[in-house]
This record gives sequence, C-alpha cells and structure tokens, in this order.
Amino acid sequence: MILVSACLAGFPCRYDGTSKINETIKQLVQEGKAIPVCPEQLGGLTTPRLPSEIRDGKVFNSEGRDVTPQFERGAAAVLQIAKEYGCKKAILKACSPSCGKGHIYDGTFSGKLVDGNGKTAELLIQNGIEVMTE
Ligand code: SF4
Repeated sequence: MILVSACLAGFPCRYDGTSKINETIKQLVQEGKAIPVCPEQLGGLTTPRLPSEIRDGKVFNSEGRDVTPQFERGAAAVLQIAKEYGCKKAILKACSPSCGKGHIYDGTFSGKLVDGNGKTAELLIQNGIEVMTE
C-alpha cells in the first residue's frame, strides 16, 4: 500500500479548499492500491485555513500564529497510519510545509523556495519510508 497526499487524490483539503488532482494518484486510490491522508486535517486544522510556511524549523501561518503543534500532530498521525497499513512508499504533494520533499517555501510567504522537507515528509523519511513528490 502506498501513502498519498489526499489533495493529489482529488480531495479538496488544501488550505484554500481546493484539490490538486493527479489522475494517476486518484486511480491508485480507486483501485485500493493507495491510501489518501491529509496531515494538516489530521492535525486538527480546518479547511479552508490560512496558508503556513516553515521558518527556523517551526511552522507559522500567514498571520504569524505558531501552528507547529498541529503540523507535528498531523505528521505523527500519518506515520501511525503508514505503520498500520505497512506502507513503504509515499507520494506527497511537492513544496507543502507538511508534504513537500526537497523544496519548501522559505517562511516569508513570498513564493521563494529553499531546500528542506515538510514536517510529515521529514518524519516519514526518518522512519524509513521512501518519500516521492508527484
Ligand atoms: S497537508 Fe498535504 S495532503 Fe493536506 S492539503 Fe496540504 S499538501 Fe495536500
């Protein structure tokens, strides 16, 4: 079983209430080969919600509120699901402060990318799960 970002599977769970559908990933879910997760929703954040970015290892929304606990709670919930389903691979949404791998926004809400991983991607990698972006 592959873990996938729910927004890529077509669920409208992004901060602005939209999805980022990828037909291949949607099909994997429909065929029962992938399980969709949204760490930000699992961490207790609403949809829609303010956008967030990582700065100095912490996560802040665009009004400056520290939402690191919600992001960490969501990451832990996703790891638990990955373990329960025996997932060895994950295909996650690029650049997200939760799901991004390799590149994330720099914390200034200016659209600038820096090297780094989202909170969930990082925790999955630390636990031996192969993380790819779409
Ligand atoms: S947290 Fe991940 S799954 Fe949820 S909307 Fe953001 S990128 Fe998609």
